[in-house]
Amino acid sequence: MRLMLQIQLPDGSVKEYPENYTAIDVAKTIGERLAAATLAAEINGTVVDATRPVGQVSNLPPGTSIPLKLITNKDPKALAVMRHSAAHVMARAVMRLYPGVGLAFGPTTGHGFYYDFDLDTKISEDDFPRIEEEMKKIIADAEPFERFNATRDEAVKLCTDLDQKLKVEHIQTGLADHGSLSFYRQGNFMDLCRGPHVPDAGKITAIKLISIAGSYWKGDANNKQLQRLYGTAWFSQKDLDEYIKQVDEAKKRDHRVLGKQLGLFSISQDVGPGLCLWLPKGSTVRATLEDFIKKELLKLGYTPVYSPHIGRVEMYEISGHFPYYRDAQFSPIFGHDAGALVDFWIRKLREHKDGTAVFSLDDEQKLLESAKVMGAALTEYPMSGSVDAKIETLRVWEKNQERYLLKPMNCPHHVQMSASQQRSYRDLPVRLAEFGTVYRHEKTGELNGMLRVRGLTQDDAHLFCTPDQVEEEFKLTLGLVKFVLNSVGLDDYRMQLSLRDSKNKTKYVGSDENWDKAETTLRKVLTELALPFTTMEGEAAFYGPKIDFMVRDCIGREWQLGTVQLDFNLPERFKLEYIGADNKPHRPVMIHRAPFGSMERFTGMLIEHFAGAFPLWLAPEQVRVLPVSDKFNDYAQSVERQFREAGFRITTDYTSSRVNAKVREAQLQLIPYMLIVGEKEAAANSVALRDRIDGDLGVLPIADAIAKLQEEVAARRVRQVVKSSFRSFDESGEESNEY
Ligand SMILES: [Zn+2]
Ligand SMILES: [Zn+2]
Repeated sequence: MRLMLQIQLPDGSVKEYPENYTAIDVAKTIGERLAAATLAAEINGTVVDATRPVGQVSNLPPGTSIPLKLITNKDPKALAVMRHSAAHVMARAVMRLYPGVGLAFGPTTGHGFYYDFDLDTKISEDDFPRIEEEMKKIIADAEPFERFNATRDEAVKLCTDLDQKLKVEHIQTGLADHGSLSFYRQGNFMDLCRGPHVPDAGKITAIKLISIAGSYWKGDANNKQLQRLYGTAWFSQKDLDEYIKQVDEAKKRDHRVLGKQLGLFSISQDVGPGLCLWLPKGSTVRATLEDFIKKELLKLGYTPVYSPHIGRVEMYEISGHFPYYRDAQFSPIFGHDAGALVDFWIRKLREHKDGTAVFSLDDEQKLLESAKVMGAALTEYPMSGSVDAKIETLRVWEKNQERYLLKPMNCPHHVQMSASQQRSYRDLPVRLAEFGTVYRHEKTGELNGMLRVRGLTQDDAHLFCTPDQVEEEFKLTLGLVKFVLNSVGLDDYRMQLSLRDSKNKTKYVGSDENWDKAETTLRKVLTELALPFTTMEGEAAFYGPKIDFMVRDCIGREWQLGTVQLDFNLPERFKLEYIGADNKPHRPVMIHRAPFGSMERFTGMLIEHFAGAFPLWLAPEQVRVLPVSDKFNDYAQSVERQFREAGFRITTDYTSSRVNAKVREAQLQLIPYMLIVGEKEAAANSVALRDRIDGDLGVLPIADAIAKLQEEVAARRVRQVVKSSFRSFDESGEESNEY
């Protein structure tokens, strides 16, 4: 036997194997148990099937040793692979139960997977047990997942034969530039798929279906409506049970349900999907948070600024936000009727130049005529000239028109503010803070209550400083984020430090020296502040390293909040300068930071974290007066007035219900304190104080009750969050295993 395959194992040792060996074969040489536990392989950094010949999968030249890591059923990476295999099994089970079902996409999510089905029959939760039962049969049969390749034409034929119309459409449109496509076969089930998969269905251990929801083909509401079936899969029944416990708890706390019940926010289809309407009570929570942050920012030397909701497209072209992120933005607002037409025209010319679309002279002629009808003569248009000359002519016309973008980011506006004055090193740092509203055109299928919206207000700020000031500014910023999170009882977090890929330095802007300095500084600051952090090499944006706060809520879920991002790029693009001590111009460094991210997402998260029961300082209605009968309404009114003057958000229940019913109602509305007033209290100028959590606190003089509650507000005490008994589950990553 000739040994051709050189494999480098994680311990660094290099061994030789027969040339057709798979990762499973390699595992077998170490032990049968290891082979049985191997679900996938990481070859030269990419997770692939453990059943494919290692030499074939790696793109390394023959003769080089191939780095191989076996991914076993202990590794979170294997979880993602197994979940996608479970998605195939689910699709197969649904096909058996609902013949003729059309398949769309079926990727993995952070803790599970889904598949979008095109099916006239509505699937309901009542159908879950029989779908699960069918899945378990497929798992028990333990048939292997087999990969094979097909040319694009073969792939179209295959999907046509399988009567999978959406797949055919996708291959013909979305995958037009793919020469060869891979499929996975599992028994008689076949699916267009990039993979990877576990070796056979028997490797899928604990599964469960979670929910069913409506979705659209390719996430677009203009397309066909589909049914999205969500499921999850884990290495053991115990893991699954713990996860389900968390999901059930999360359902009870769903901010969309509580938001409606408690009158915090609403989303009206008449206003538009993803556009949050803050109702008075939700607005009170938000305003209280904003006031709190504003005060803290003033203490740290920030200055408040305001900027408009739109800005010229040219500015976003300089910043790079346009057209790069165009898909995630609302279309530009054009001052000239022909603006959208010229915009379309330029895009078509560019696509024609790249070879991604055909754009005929005939089409051009029609556009030219239409533009004329719309009042843009374009007499200079070089019909027989080069594509570049044509684009240039259209660009010149475009630049003379008004074109605005709904603000996708606040940064360029703040850069302009910084640039509006000549700065010396003595003026730095400049810290500009704004609750800035930005707009993102998220797909309707991705929208989720307050957590994923189309209009959002960031608690944004931009700092402009010298490279030497970065350390101090980061320290202050991290301290602020920490303080703010602690003030709402979120004290369980870790940091994630995203650094550049040290092996591929060319893809980053900014000098090597500045990057080194910045990365060292960030590490130093995190260490000095004793903040636990993990580093993620290669995860930094191309324009600078960043730190994220990964915050764990009271049911163990992790939320990414509080991003602090260093930026070498925008100061460069906008040619920002300050005059240094050497009297020469220098480029400042910019820091973007938003402790909450957006007010929408943060409030949505807080609703779930507190299960709607906000602590006293944030509660929209803090106190309610409950007169025991209408004889004491006047006294109740005077109590209300005194509390209101002392700064409390308070109401009185004047209904004719019995006091027990009034207490029950106030408890249901999660009001932190109740003041019961009757004969005895009126006579003594006092109140019977009742705490939503601890119940009766006895009779107190009004002044004492006010002082007690004021103390709780001032301390921003968070009393109601019980420490989590929930486990924290790492996300296994969102993979689109489909093309
Ligand atoms: Zn797949
Ligand atoms: Zn920014």
